[in-house]
Amino acid sequence: MAINSKDDNIRVTDSRALNNPGYPADAMLAALAGIDDGVIIVSASRVVEYLNAAAERIFRPVSHKRDNMTFIEFVRDYELDTLLRRCMETGVKQSAMIRMHQNNILLQITVLPDNARFCYVVVIKDLSEHQHLENIRRDLISNISHEFRTPIASIKLLAETMIENDGKDPGLSKDFLEKIVIEANKLTQMTDDLRELAEIEKGKSAFNKGIINIRRLIELVVRRLEAQAQTAGLKVEIVAEDDLPRPVIDGNRIESVLMNLVHNAIKFSYPGGKITIGANQDDDCILISVADTGSGIAESELERIFERFYMVDRSRTGEGSGLGLSISKHIVAAHGGRIWVESKEGSGSTFYFSLPLKA
Ligand code: ADP
Repeated sequence: MAINSKDDNIRVTDSRALNNPGYPADAMLAALAGIDDGVIIVSASRVVEYLNAAAERIFRPVSHKRDNMTFIEFVRDYELDTLLRRCMETGVKQSAMIRMHQNNILLQITVLPDNARFCYVVVIKDLSEHQHLENIRRDLISNISHEFRTPIASIKLLAETMIENDGKDPGLSKDFLEKIVIEANKLTQMTDDLRELAEIEKGKSAFNKGIINIRRLIELVVRRLEAQAQTAGLKVEIVAEDDLPRPVIDGNRIESVLMNLVHNAIKFSYPGGKITIGANQDDDCILISVADTGSGIAESELERIFERFYMVDRSRTGEGSGLGLSISKHIVAAHGGRIWVESKEGSGSTFYFSLPLKA
């Protein structure tokens, strides 16, 4: 007898199990169908008697055959089959981490004997998301140590040279001390950025929202970076109406997004170039853009520049941590907006971000 519940993914193909007293009732089957872990019940002759939706999702069976399908036919994995056989031979619960050869997914498997019902319960936890987060954590730690190593090594070298010099050349000491301060500032900036990023990611960072005049905010940023743009030989233009609808945003945070974008535009531009900062209403959003006539970004790098620590060419600028765009992305997302870039290598970039008008 084959029983299909209302959910097509729940199948009990062998009536023996159902006839056993205590076998999960309908409610239990519905619960099993809804959980994220895969559950497969296998008979003593290794035929799949029950499987839930998660098990289907994990193993994506190649065949539509369901009746009398053996465990190995369903999972198509020798190691997993061996684990089941070991449980059958020993009558003892077996657990293992198995990476499936067909799709490289990492699984935590537990096989339990159910002696009362002459069957075996295989519970499968998909660890791919967990592994993905673990990889991010590992990359982050290795990136942080890599980024910190350079300024720390510079500070060490400068200090050692000063010790060797033993105050004989006061001019050199002053120069080196100034360089040490620059390197220490870089470290401070990186720790501040990292802390801010962590807080925003955790959603812990408090956003202090108010009704903000975007044109005024852009003018403030331009004023703050004017001297830097002039030194770099760049013209800055604002193209934004004064009477744009005013979004409810955290003015300080959005200012720091703009600061980062304009600062990058200055950093990656050539003398004689121009930076245009625009704002306009686009449906129910305010769309802000920062366009430059600088180096541009290769198409293959466009997505990656929003990742933590990603810098296209580290040798091009001595400053920067590669964290600015990552922080900006999180700030904009926390306002319900989106940030992206359009660019052509060699002919400049335009960064856009949207801010919804309905808070
Ligand atoms: P940082 O500026 O500290 O390096 P960001 O996260 O702000 O870090 O930027 C990451 C990278 O994106 C930069 O190192 C650079 O390679 C690239 N980038 C950002 N803005 C521009 C721009 N306007 N023109 C060209 N490349 C840019």
